Amino acid sequence: LKVVEARGALEDISLDAGIIRMKPRLAVYAADEPEVAEALRRAESEGLKVTPRGAGTSIPGQAVGEGMVLFPEGKGAKLSPLGEVACGTATVKGELNDFLTGKGRWMPVDPSSYASCTVGGMVANNSSGSRTFKYGSTVDYVASLRAVLPGEEAREVRPMAVKDALGSSPRTKAIVTLLQEHRKEVAEDKPRVTKNSSGYRLERALHDDVFDEPALLVGSEGTLGVVTEATFRTVPRPAWRLLFIFESSLDGLQRAAEALKPAAPSALELLDKSVFRQTGRSEMLRAYSKTDYEYMIFCEFDGAGDPADKVAEVAGGGAASLDPIVLASPAEISSAWEVRNGTLLVAQEIRREGKALVPGVEDLVVPPDKLRDLLRVLDDQFSRRGLEYISYGHMGDANLHARPLMDLGSGGGMRALDDLMVDCFEAVWKMGGSMTGEHGDGRLRAKYVERQYPRTHWMMKEIRRLYDPGGLLNPGVKIV
Ligand SMILES: Cc1cc2nc3c(=O)[nH]c(=O)nc-3n(C[C@H](O)[C@H](O)[C@H](O)COP(=O)(O)OP(=O)(O)OC[C@H]3O[C@@H](n4cnc5c(N)ncnc54)[C@H](O)[C@@H]3O)c2cc1C
Repeated sequence: LKVVEARGALEDISLDAGIIRMKPRLAVYAADEPEVAEALRRAESEGLKVTPRGAGTSIPGQAVGEGMVLFPEGKGAKLSPLGEVACGTATVKGELNDFLTGKGRWMPVDPSSYASCTVGGMVANNSSGSRTFKYGSTVDYVASLRAVLPGEEAREVRPMAVKDALGSSPRTKAIVTLLQEHRKEVAEDKPRVTKNSSGYRLERALHDDVFDEPALLVGSEGTLGVVTEATFRTVPRPAWRLLFIFESSLDGLQRAAEALKPAAPSALELLDKSVFRQTGRSEMLRAYSKTDYEYMIFCEFDGAGDPADKVAEVAGGGAASLDPIVLASPAEISSAWEVRNGTLLVAQEIRREGKALVPGVEDLVVPPDKLRDLLRVLDDQFSRRGLEYISYGHMGDANLHARPLMDLGSGGGMRALDDLMVDCFEAVWKMGGSMTGEHGDGRLRAKYVERQYPRTHWMMKEIRRLYDPGGLLNPGVKIV
């Protein structure tokens, strides 16, 4: 075990990509699974709480903690003949992509942060990406995990028949019984969205007479166990991609989305041009823009047949009048995606009079046909408070990354953010949505999860207690 207690190093990991700062007592780097188990034993004996951490790119504060910050360092990837890839959780998603590309395969969830985030962080946050619209989220690709769970030896976590689960350990039996007895409440509480990282994914944990324990750990934000290895299903790499770039007013966005969806895009993304204007970077958009409309829509298709058929389909479909720029070369498409993926990093440069763009309502998601309502709610909530804001994100899934410009250091700044969060969350819950489509609850949203899941939050608390009776892992995060 490598243990680091130097002040500067601990300072560096007392923030993730969010706004909550917590200085740990120590950082521990565990080279392999036995060392992860040893780190947990050490934390327990020294009375320290443990926050597992990957690259620390989380936004609502789940990768910071006061006790031990634990870095599981297992890396490397191995592809099975069945097309499943097993990798150490410290593997960066970009590295996994490079490994799989050489073999003609792909794990099709690429968060905008794919060049730095780890697969462990993706599993723990149930991360998504631009192509989740077609391909789904991390939870859809996890075949099995290896994990160190409090009070247990390291073990494989894989789906098992319910009857076997009921005959296994008292903990597994208790969890499965809980899920079986409250199926109805679980179904009632499930948000009607296409992606979700709030709470535990109870509806995915029990299906078709299977206890899908990996699905329970996916999105648990380091509160149930420390994952050491993830095995993902992969798909063949698409033979081609085409990127159509449209421009639209705010009012035209829902119409454009509905016109484009029948052609089955692999991604349908929204980019707010004002982010680039305000930071003096409009130049980055020049090649992709020919109007003064405030929004750009990135609509990507991929496939195996003839791309010309797709061009003809889009040209003849409901989006024909939208006059897109069409990119077909892999280099051009990847440059355009770099601009879209860099939106948050560019936006973070916007600062005025002590104000910065803050998270909190940065990941709202609603049923896809309610995109227009979500845009209205945001505009209404921000303008009635006189807040400037930016908004971009995954329009196909109606998952928007809106951030207001606020001064959290001022007296009442945090209270004002809380107030905004409550109003926006209430509106989203009324639409059947979720507070977070991909970033997770973290510390920032933990106290609202009970209202997100009024019938099943108690079950999540009970599941957390069953996995971690001593409250060793990430207290204050997600389920409180
Ligand atoms: C610029 C930017 C763009 C982003 N874009 C996206 C996006 O498009 N889609 C998206 O979904 N997210 C996005 N995010 C959020 C974030 O990058 C992802 O959630 C990412 O997958 C987190 O990975 P990480 O390695 O940084 O994890 P960390 O932030 O280090 O940790 C994330 C969570 O996982 C837990 N954890 C980490 N490793 C383990 C482990 N081995 N076992 C158990 N728990 C563990 C931590 O305790 C924490 O709760 C973005 C963030 C930024 C800053």
